[in-house]
Amino acid sequence: MTTGMIDQFGRRIEYLRISVTDRCNFRCTYCMPLEGLPWLPREDILSYEEITEVVRQLAPLGVSRLRITGGEPTIRPQLTTLIAMLRAVPGIEDIALSTNGVKLPQMAEELKAAGLDRVNMSADSLRPERIREIARRSLSFHPIQSAMAAERAGLGPVKLNTVVMRGINDDEIEDFARLTLEHPWHVRFIELMPVGEMRELTFEHVVPSDEILARLSAIAPLGADAGPERGNGPAAYYRFPGAPGSIGVITPMTHTYCGDCNRVRLTADGRLRTCLYGDEEVNFRDTLRAGEPLAPLYAAALATKPREHALLQMKVGGLRALSEIGG
Ligand code: SAM
Ligand code: SF4
Repeated sequence: MTTGMIDQFGRRIEYLRISVTDRCNFRCTYCMPLEGLPWLPREDILSYEEITEVVRQLAPLGVSRLRITGGEPTIRPQLTTLIAMLRAVPGIEDIALSTNGVKLPQMAEELKAAGLDRVNMSADSLRPERIREIARRSLSFHPIQSAMAAERAGLGPVKLNTVVMRGINDDEIEDFARLTLEHPWHVRFIELMPVGEMRELTFEHVVPSDEILARLSAIAPLGADAGPERGNGPAAYYRFPGAPGSIGVITPMTHTYCGDCNRVRLTADGRLRTCLYGDEEVNFRDTLRAGEPLAPLYAAALATKPREHALLQMKVGGLRALSEIGG
C-alpha cells in the first residue's frame, strides 16, 4: 500500500535510510580519509530505542521501507537487536541493509533471523590486492563469498554496488557484469561522486554510465530491464539475454533521477536530511529527547526537499562524506 506523504514537487516519500554509525572498518578512497573523520560523540548518536521511536512516528505518515546504513552498520554492537525492534513496528514492510560485506559470512543468518529482508553490498574489485588498496584495510574477506553467504541466508536478491573509478578499477567492469550471467545478483555501477575530503580522486576519475553501458554491450546485447526495485530507486536496469541477474547504473554525475526520489535520510546523530547532497536538515534528536512529536517537523522538512541536487551542474565541493550522512 502506498500512503507516503507528498512533498512540494509531488513525490511520495515512503523510504527512510537510517545511518546507525558514522564509523567504519574500511577507509575507501572515495569515501573517507585514511585517518578517519572527527567521529560523533557517543551521546550524540541515537540509541536503538530512539531510532525505533522515529520509525514508529513516521510509519503512520507513510514510511514503509527502511534501509540501515552508515558508516558501516555491522560494526555497531547488537545490530540484530535494532533490526528486530524495527521489524516489530506496524506498517514497516521492507528492511534492507547496506554493508561492505566483511561481516556477512558470520552475521547473515542472525540478521535474517532478526527480520532483515535484503542486503546491498559494496564491491569495488574482485581482486584481493586491489580490494585492500581501495579499502585501505587488510581484512580477510572476498566479496563473492560474502554475497553467497547473504544469498544462502535468504537475504536476496543481493545487490552489488561498484563505484567505478577511471584508471583504478574500470578494467573490472566486464568481470562484474559477467557475474550476472551466473548469479541472480543485481550488479550496479555507481558514478564516482568527488565529494567529501578525498584528495586523490577528481572529476577525471568519473566514468560516465553511458560509457560503461557501451563497453558492456560489446559482451552481449543489453536489454532494458524492470530491475528488482519496489517503487522508485535511483538505478536504471539492463540485462544480458537469458541472464539470471541484472545490471544497473546509478548516475548522480550525468543524469538526474531526483524527479522520482522517494526517500529521506536519518543521520546517526538524529538529523533528518531530505536530500543526500543538500544542506537542508532538521534536528529530530532534540525534539525526540524533549518528548515532542516529530510529525510537524517532518512535514516542514518535506516542504524543503529540493527539486534536484547540484552534482549535475558540477557544483560540488565542501559536501559531507557519504559515510557521515548514510550514502
Ligand atoms: N559501508 C556501507 C557500504 O559501503 O555499502 C554503507 C555506507 S556507504 C557510505 C553507502 C554507499 O555509498 C556505498 O555503496 C558506497 O560505495 C557509496 N559511496 C560512498 N562514497 C561515494 C562516492 N564518493 N561516490 C559514489 N559512491 C559513494
Ligand atoms: Fe566504509 Fe562504506 Fe565508506 Fe567504504 S563506502 S569507507 S565501507 S562507509
